[in-house]
Amino acid sequence: MLSAECDCAEYDDLPIDLKAVEARVELYREMRPKLRKLGQKLVGQWSEHYRLYKCDACGQYWQSTLAPRDSDLWYLFKVPKITVKAWKQSVYVPPGEIAKFLEERTAFLAKEFETKDTICNERGCSEHAIVGSTKCMYHQFLQIGFGETLSSLLSMRWFPPYSPELLQLNHTMESDA
Ligand SMILES: [Zn+2]
Ligand SMILES: [Zn+2]
Repeated sequence: MLSAECDCAEYDDLPIDLKAVEARVELYREMRPKLRKLGQKLVGQWSEHYRLYKCDACGQYWQSTLAPRDSDLWYLFKVPKITVKAWKQSVYVPPGEIAKFLEERTAFLAKEFETKDTICNERGCSEHAIVGSTKCMYHQFLQIGFGETLSSLLSMRWFPPYSPELLQLNHTMESDA
């Protein structure tokens, strides 16, 4: 069972990219048997389900979670060493969820919205509101449920190479002033 060899070094940290995450999903069945499960955490319903693993050969810790586009499938990603107790209090943020959020935001903001003269009613925002709303595109995006996704991601345990700055919106819409 305990082997001096393992495959951990073959796997890089996942980039924030759904295609890379989906490629990792494909490897789950191959990767999983080499790891020892330390704990699991189920948040509310099945939709948030996390497991913590350790490779006994090299000591690397891993977390698994459901695939961003198919909740019947899983993927594994490297995480820093942690106690099960601390991990259960706050699990590591899954790179697939970051990628999915950013992709959905990009898709939403790429839509052609007509703006009006009124300024967005969100405090501190100086963007024009879009027709049919009291908010700018970005705040409309948060309004329709993605604000909860954003808060949920920000409340998780972040670790290198990922940082919450990944979720910041680069304001490139100021040019119509
Ligand atoms: Zn290993
Ligand atoms: Zn706004």
